[in-house]
Amino acid sequence: MRSLIDITELDLGEVDALIAKAEDIIAHPEKYADKCRGKKLATLFYEPSTRTRLSFEAAMYELGGNVLGFSESQSSSAAKGESVADTAKTVSCYADVIAMRHPKEGAPLVASRNATIPVINAGDGGHNHPTQTLTDLLTIKKEKGRLGGLTVGLCGDLKFGRTVHSLISALSRYGGIKFVFISPAELKIPGYVRQGVLEKNGIPYEETTDLDGSIGKLDILYMTRVQRERFFNEEDYLRLRDSYILTQQKMKAAREDMIVMHPLPRVNEISPEIDSDPRACYFRQVLYGKYIRMALILMLLGID
Ligand code: ASP
Repeated sequence: MRSLIDITELDLGEVDALIAKAEDIIAHPEKYADKCRGKKLATLFYEPSTRTRLSFEAAMYELGGNVLGFSESQSSSAAKGESVADTAKTVSCYADVIAMRHPKEGAPLVASRNATIPVINAGDGGHNHPTQTLTDLLTIKKEKGRLGGLTVGLCGDLKFGRTVHSLISALSRYGGIKFVFISPAELKIPGYVRQGVLEKNGIPYEETTDLDGSIGKLDILYMTRVQRERFFNEEDYLRLRDSYILTQQKMKAAREDMIVMHPLPRVNEISPEIDSDPRACYFRQVLYGKYIRMALILMLLGID
């Protein structure tokens, strides 16, 4: 029995296989319509979500399975003080696979150690978000045709943005990746990513506060929201939230084939006028997220 807590638990061959499976699902959805008949996915969401939870649920329905769960901790026994470990043991009696989002880093790992069914980390605090990363990798593969040899700009809240941390870990395993980290000084990537991933693997990167000066060299611009819920005080959030706003004016300096990605939700960091630019692929990214989660559910349930 296998869980997915950190993206690096999947080797590159497995990531390739998941991407290939998602592409096959896109091409032949009818082949998959009954694959999970009789199976249940439990979505245990202790933090808000739109895309991750609904895409997991849509994925399971499209595989012919069923879904149960909760979308806020207040409606579960967590409100009475139940531990994540006990909830995981309980839900193992009802479902075949769990997708869990939690504000505390490490909670899905604790769940996986106590569950008797696979647990998928659907976002733990400011730490990791492996299924967003699988979504991002499928998006890059579909939109750019390759996963190596890319200059990737990550812009915004690189400190608390869990999707950023998982994506850096995943892309660092491909050849010819360069990162350009664009953030305010207070929101730079954390030390554990800098030392534990980039420096450990000799991955080239630069850090800057200047989006205008960097956009022209990027193959991918990955925008992120400033993570209000992780701030200790509102004043800092208000000061930093509009540090970067991608506008049509700024896009003039970008390459014709650069793509703009965003894990969403967007607050203010991408002007809606960009949505109709063919380089904007964040809503296509949303759809890729459903297909890759279908592929992941099949893999963890051992269904071909
Ligand atoms: N939806 C993503 C996440 O859950 C990105 C974000 O919330 O800004 O991490």
